Amino acid sequence: MSELCELGIRAAQEGLAKGDFTSVDLVRSVIESYRRKNADIGAYLTFDEEMALKAAAENPGSVPIAVKDLINVAGQPCTCASKMLEGYVSPYDATVIKNMKAHGFIPAGRVNMDEFAMGSSTENSRLGRTRNPYDLERVPGGSSGGSAAAVGADMCIAALGTDTGGSIRQPASFCNCVGVKPSYGRVSRFGVTAFASSLDQVGPMTKSVEDAAILLGAIAGHDEMDGTTPRDAVPDYLKAMEGSSMKGVRLGVVREYEDAPGMDADVKRITREAIDRCERAGAEIVEISLPHSQYAMAVYYIIAPAEASANLARFDGVRYGHRSDMATDVFSLYTKSRAEGFGAEVKRRIIMGTYVLSSGYYDAYYGRAQKVRTLIKRDFDAAFEKVDAILTPCAPTPAFKAGELQDPLTMYLNDLFTIPSSLAGVCASSVPAGFAAGNLPVGVQFICGGFREDRLLAVSKAFEDLIKGE
Ligand code: GLN
Repeated sequence: MSELCELGIRAAQEGLAKGDFTSVDLVRSVIESYRRKNADIGAYLTFDEEMALKAAAENPGSVPIAVKDLINVAGQPCTCASKMLEGYVSPYDATVIKNMKAHGFIPAGRVNMDEFAMGSSTENSRLGRTRNPYDLERVPGGSSGGSAAAVGADMCIAALGTDTGGSIRQPASFCNCVGVKPSYGRVSRFGVTAFASSLDQVGPMTKSVEDAAILLGAIAGHDEMDGTTPRDAVPDYLKAMEGSSMKGVRLGVVREYEDAPGMDADVKRITREAIDRCERAGAEIVEISLPHSQYAMAVYYIIAPAEASANLARFDGVRYGHRSDMATDVFSLYTKSRAEGFGAEVKRRIIMGTYVLSSGYYDAYYGRAQKVRTLIKRDFDAAFEKVDAILTPCAPTPAFKAGELQDPLTMYLNDLFTIPSSLAGVCASSVPAGFAAGNLPVGVQFICGGFREDRLLAVSKAFEDLIKGE
């Protein structure tokens, strides 16, 4: 270990406790890494070095965390990688930031993303390009691509991302990190710029499963400001992981996913090997069926844009961010500010969302999608009667080249395996599982029932031990 920025959360906390170094040393090392690598990798949009160093000095023993640029931190920019919010400075801390601070973490640096979290490659960022640290020609995944690249390139100790349909898990898979999408409601969304409010969750992106457990434990819990967060206490996730093993774990493998469209041969092999490894380590492999998963993409691309079109209506050139100079009256102020402020993918989602919600189409699209969503959720409920966890590929391919996926539909298909669990509201992780040709990382996804992060982390840790032990 040559530099402090290479440490994960656990190791950093141990070193701090022993007095081997200080939080200021840690932040300095992260800043050095940022200065050295960001021109190539572009993980960060901005880094307020002074604020991070001051916070570290004032909070001895704290660990810096990189924050996706849609989570509000008082006094920091929160651009959502959009021209719409360029120059915007947050007046308050999101609940996850407050919680994190109360548990000995400090926000340090703002990491890149797809504009308003819409995308799978971070190419939709309107404020900068992020490259995959494993191959600079390739994308880091998205929408939490900056978080994943920062973790993968040791430009931070750990990062926060958000996941609506796969945005923590797919970039984690592409950049060799651990990512956890908590169950819907596990983590407060207050102060997190909304994309699709019935799906959005904040989660950890880290260098190990243990670190993910620590950071999730810090941010999770009930919040008066988010009515979807239940009051029950957050379990001790580190404790839940103690002595975890694959022995006796009933592990579901989804019949329908075997021959999914666009599956890369290496991903197929690595997933197969992952299943075999778990079986050899004592897991009982159970074939399960999620028959309504085949409609998940269609359902997601009705529900998510519908909610996005409503959430993004607030960006009207009056209250936040970009205001057009070309406006001649109030209506053109709205239309021109939005036309200039939003990028192509965001506009596409707003148009789709407005369409599916319009009177005359509402029942045919949005209403029906909600019903199918219930069926998708019931498939998971039925599956979790028989299994403790489900193992699937995380994304159908390893990281692809920048510019390679021009067609939005092909881009959307990246989330084929992550979207069903998002719609069901259950929790899921991405854990590094191997490397494809060209040294490209590939993760697998574990899925557990709603609010079973304890089990999810235990199974993910057992799998990580298998991979690391080889
Ligand atoms: N890639 C998906 C989308 O574009 C998921 C994004 C996310 O989870 N934020 O909607």
